[in-house]
Amino acid sequence: MSDGKFGRRDLLKRAAAVGAGVAAASAGLQSAVAQDAAPAGEAMPMVPKRKLGKTGEMVPVLLMGGSQKFDPVFDKMLHRAYKLGMNYIDTAESYANGQSHVTLKPFIEQVGRKNLWITSKSGMFGGSGPGTVAMYRDAIMKEFDVLGTDYIDAYFFHGLKHTECLEPEYIKFADELKKSGKTKYFGFSCHDGNVVDLMNKAAKLGGDAVNMIMFRYNFTMYGDVELNKAMDACVAAGIGLLSMKTQSSVPQDNEMVKKFQSENFTLHQARLRAALEDERITASVSGINNMQILMENTKAVTTAKALTAKEMIQLHQYAAQTAEYSCRGCTHLCETKVASDLKIGDQLRYLMYAECYDQRSEAQQLYAKLSVSERNFHSVDLDDATKACPQKINIRGRLEKARALLA
Ligand code: SF4
Repeated sequence: MSDGKFGRRDLLKRAAAVGAGVAAASAGLQSAVAQDAAPAGEAMPMVPKRKLGKTGEMVPVLLMGGSQKFDPVFDKMLHRAYKLGMNYIDTAESYANGQSHVTLKPFIEQVGRKNLWITSKSGMFGGSGPGTVAMYRDAIMKEFDVLGTDYIDAYFFHGLKHTECLEPEYIKFADELKKSGKTKYFGFSCHDGNVVDLMNKAAKLGGDAVNMIMFRYNFTMYGDVELNKAMDACVAAGIGLLSMKTQSSVPQDNEMVKKFQSENFTLHQARLRAALEDERITASVSGINNMQILMENTKAVTTAKALTAKEMIQLHQYAAQTAEYSCRGCTHLCETKVASDLKIGDQLRYLMYAECYDQRSEAQQLYAKLSVSERNFHSVDLDDATKACPQKINIRGRLEKARALLA
């Protein structure tokens, strides 16, 4: 076993050998060198690629998150990422109030459409029910107008919560899109709701119907048996898996954050690396909003060093001791226990963007879009919701924090 080239079983053995019980997996992350992406004289390693399920497409293991507004004249960060091999941009018409699409358009023209892989998504229509096919059909047309492209590589139903959206009429709609050339592939993203049910249903449909899934996955979830089974089923069906929220949701000033020790990785890098060392994950998407994070992320996946068992144990301890901050988005457990429209999962996710991902203004915009009844928790009995929470989160306390930071 050499650094950076070990397999899933090796890491399991190493973790088990020291009693960590961490069900992490690992795959080698190899890279070539980008000669022109670095300052003069320095050669930067290229972000490695992996195969995306049954599609057979090779995509970079780091995807460029597009939830922010870019520099419409010349976005240095996008260009640097592109030169490092991150030619996959994950965006959505709703991101940054539409500004993600608007400000990506010049970059697409600068590097050439055919050199990029673009994923976009629509949905999150609000309300408690699934969007209709007609709603998705209307929504996708906006994608092309603003991006200035006549196709996107993959189209996602955004923030899927309802398994009904994988019924035949929706899959037929997705197939029509593929046949029309509007998109090559179809999938969905999900960060709350019953992710396990959604993934299991997708696995039954198979990797030709649902080509890829982007879901919340990080080191705090290694012990989730049902999620692991659902991931295995998706991989067996040929569905490409993309992880997001790899940093979990612990505030950066938490004591456990400060305690992490490693010779090779910052905690941020270790958390990102931990998701990608699971060989079932093709790639991770990161909200990269400055050059420092871009370089930190790139180094995490291009180094020949792998996470050691000691580092995995630290992550395992960190996950256990900070569980009360780590909302997993399982809103079917808590939101069904309150007698109002209160959006617990959304509010805690926006709080995470502000506390952990340095995206406070984006989080404030999202928070402001919630209706009064979706935000209001003061007059709501939260006892049953709190009892139902597997992470033992102080829901009222965290909602208060969200209001203090985001209102
Ligand atoms: S507050 Fe708890 S139950 Fe609700 S979504 Fe978050 S982790 Fe799940």
